[in-house]
Amino acid sequence: MSPVLYRKYRPQSFEEMVGQKAIVSVLKSALEKNRISHAYLFSGPAGTGKTTVARIFARAVNCLSRSDLDRDLGSNLQSPCNKCEFCEEFASGQTLDLVEIDAASSRGIDEIRALRDGVRVLPFKTKYKVYIIDEVHMLTKEAFNALLKTLEEPPEHVIFILATTELDKVPETIVTRTQHFEFRKIGEEDLQKALELIVKKEGVKVESEVLNIIAILAEGSLRDAQSMLDQALAASASELGAKELRGIFGVPEQELLEKITTALLEKDAKTALKLIHQGSEENLDQRAFLKLLIRNFRFLLYLKLDSNYEKELKTFLPASELSSLQVLAQKYQVKDFENILNHLNNAYPLLKVAYLAQLPLELAVLKITAS
Ligand SMILES: [Zn+2]
Repeated sequence: MSPVLYRKYRPQSFEEMVGQKAIVSVLKSALEKNRISHAYLFSGPAGTGKTTVARIFARAVNCLSRSDLDRDLGSNLQSPCNKCEFCEEFASGQTLDLVEIDAASSRGIDEIRALRDGVRVLPFKTKYKVYIIDEVHMLTKEAFNALLKTLEEPPEHVIFILATTELDKVPETIVTRTQHFEFRKIGEEDLQKALELIVKKEGVKVESEVLNIIAILAEGSLRDAQSMLDQALAASASELGAKELRGIFGVPEQELLEKITTALLEKDAKTALKLIHQGSEENLDQRAFLKLLIRNFRFLLYLKLDSNYEKELKTFLPASELSSLQVLAQKYQVKDFENILNHLNNAYPLLKVAYLAQLPLELAVLKITAS
């Protein structure tokens, strides 16, 4: 499958964006009112759509459907048409009026000096010359100063869109000169829907639970979700099943998850620890282990609180899995699930610093079973 899903399914319009609804709505309204700022800062985790939105916005401000003539005709001012000459040139990168700089690979002051000189030159064809500077926090101090000088008095015909995954490394002097948008992690439901659409368009067969698991493992990044799907599809001969997916990414089997779920509810530390040990022997990914365990307990909590939730789970969980969850949901109380979820959730950030990958989960088991 080539090109990779991530490139192939990069949203080309605001309407196709996955998540980031609030940001998209503000930008669309700015476009409609023609209140275009000269510098934007997009911060947030990787794979959440910063560069994608930047590119759509760059086309939208220059799109020929925005020209005065068309505006009288009431054409769409909020989104690029993706058909006109400028939209096409911007989309293919065949234009001198869109400059993309990846600060992670070109940190030098030379690039920024070139940029500083370049902004004085009027756009060749379009109304605005757009500079997208990705990973802007990687610029050197000198480069930041050069950028700052440009941002202090940006020429009318220039728009800067700065993107960063590490906002705290961007100097405050730069941040205050921009209109700042914070991109959030994309919700699991949005990710799952986006993956469903891709699978449909690709015409590939995938067990429905697969997409739910990927959406959870991807932690809010559409790029990660797409590349996991890519990888799994490449490794799979025919229909991609949940079992196969678990094998590829070291994700624990449902049976193991069910056993440990029950052990935790019964406060049986010995069995739970034995199962975790078994998991590490099988080289399971501890992050996936903990995430799917949390997923199980969230399902239980929701099932307990709202019997209608069953319908939702039915759409992607295998019947056998759902029925064993239902048994547990009936048997235990909300506070049991809440208590366990609390401890598992507290264990999650510890994965980053743990001496042994399985230690946070083991410690959580001790707390849960002792409480
Ligand atoms: Zn256009």
